[in-house]
Formats: sequence, C-alpha cells, structure tokens
Amino acid sequence: MKTKLKILHLPYSVFGYRVLDKEQLDYLSGLYSVKYTFGRTFTSFVVYPPTILKKMYQQFKNANGITIQSYINSLRDLKLDDYNVIINCMGLGAREVVPDAKVIPIRGQITRISAPWINQVVVDEDTGHYFIIPNIHNCVLGGTHQKNNFCTEIDDNDKEFILNECMELIPGIKHAKLISHWVGLRPGRDKIRLVSEEKDGKFYIHNYGHGGSGFTLFWGCASDVLDIFDNYMKTKN
Ligand SMILES: Cc1cc2nc3c(=O)[nH]c(=O)nc-3n(C[C@H](O)[C@H](O)[C@H](O)COP(=O)(O)OP(=O)(O)OC[C@H]3O[C@@H](n4cnc5c(N)ncnc54)[C@H](O)[C@@H]3O)c2cc1C
Repeated sequence: MKTKLKILHLPYSVFGYRVLDKEQLDYLSGLYSVKYTFGRTFTSFVVYPPTILKKMYQQFKNANGITIQSYINSLRDLKLDDYNVIINCMGLGAREVVPDAKVIPIRGQITRISAPWINQVVVDEDTGHYFIIPNIHNCVLGGTHQKNNFCTEIDDNDKEFILNECMELIPGIKHAKLISHWVGLRPGRDKIRLVSEEKDGKFYIHNYGHGGSGFTLFWGCASDVLDIFDNYMKTKN
C-alpha cells in the first residue's frame, strides 16, 4: 500500500513523468542489452553529497557561522549549557542522546564503478532497493538495507549481491572498472521526528530519523526547523 501511494503521488511531484511505451522499452532494451517489460521515467537531478555539503558549509561560514566539534552524551550535557535553543540533528546519534529507541541503523553497502556510458538513473521498482546512479565522478551501485545492523565493515556477500542485482538492471556493468566499496548507516525511524519541546528552560527542535532520504528531504525539513525557530523567537520578543 505504501508503495502504491508513493507511485500515485509521483506523476504530480516530478517533471516529465510517463509510463514507458513499447517503443521506448525496446529502445532501452537495445541500449543496455536486457529485456525490459515495464518502466516509468521522469526528469530530476542528482545531488552529489560531498559537493553540496562543502558548498553549504562555506555559505554557513561566510554568514559568520561557527562550528565546534564535540561529543554530546545527552541533551543535558554540560557542553550545551551556554545555549538556549538547541537544534538536534544527530541522526543515528539520537538513539543514545535523546534517547530514542525508535532510531535504528539501516546498514547500506554500495559499490562505485567507472561507467561514463551510463547517463540515466535506473531503479528497480520491485524492491526499491537496487539502483544505479551515475554522478560526476563515478557511478554508484546500491545497495543493502539491513535494519538494526551496526556493522560498518565491507561484506563480501553484499558486494556480490549488489553486483548481481544491478547486472539484472544493466548487464554491461560487469565490464566496468571497480573503484571502491563503501558502507554507511542510515538513521532509520518509523517516521521522521521533527518537533519542538521546551524542557528545563531550553527550547529544543528535534530533526532526525531521515533514513535513506536525508539528502532528498533536507531542504524542506530545514525550512520547517526555521519556521519553528522563527515562531519561537516571536513569542520571546
Ligand atoms: C548507502 C547509503 C545511501 C544513501 N542514499 C541516499 C539517497 O540516495 N538519497 C538520500 O536522500 N539519502 C540517502 N542516504 C541517506 C542519507 O545519507 C541520510 O538520510 C542523511 O545523511 C541523514 O542526515 P542527518 O544529518 O540527519 O544525519 P547524519 O548525516 O548521520 O549526521 C548526524 C551528525 O550528528 C553527529 N552526531 C551523532 N551523535 C553525536 C553525538 N553523540 N555527539 C556529537 N555529534 C553527534 C554525527 O557525527 C553526524 O555529524 C543514503 C545513506 C546511505 C548509508
């Protein structure tokens, strides 16, 4: 049901959405030497996290933003004493720090290859898990979605699994040069927690639990955080 709702929404959320007709399926089948029987297409953009994060960090610094790197044990940590408003974006860290047991790791292993001949994102809609995403420097093959798995080591079985699943989408990737493997832990939660609360004289805005969609949702969530903050400041003036 969840998937159906997502797909029903898709035609109204993206540019150029259409179900591929036979001619288009035949074209793509010829292009990638595989028999596609059904597909949907739309136009969007791919965000390359290291680039956008670097740029946004620079913007923050240009606006006289200051960063202090430090480990926080809890929301009552003494290091937070000097601050009246705390925006909690601790991802998986919220599990221990809030603490919020609903936050779980969703282990994601991916593979990077060199395949400049791929210029479309291909996602396996049946599982929603396997994808081929070309970006500026290389092409990302993914990925695992292992709930409650904290392991950040590369797993050989996962390597093979990812490659096999992605080869079903585009068989030619077996000839591509391997660049690297990588593992990250998505900060999973049954739903995002974006709420505020006043406690012990401090105002907290919680914004965590974005799972595998943090880069898709960050702009909207940050904008909600800002609205909450602005409203709070109005009540204080
Ligand atoms: C393999 C993989 C593929 C992904 N693909 C996509 C994708 O295609 N599209 C998409 O939108 N998203 C994707 N994601 C998800 C995306 O990376 C996350 O949703 C996003 O990084 C979450 O951002 P965040 O800032 O909430 O948490 P994080 O990026 O985890 O940041 C949390 C920060 O809090 C800090 N922190 C935590 N605990 C403490 C503590 N106790 N004290 C001090 N600091 C602390 C951490 O050091 C970190 O800097 C993917 C993730 C993985 C692993």
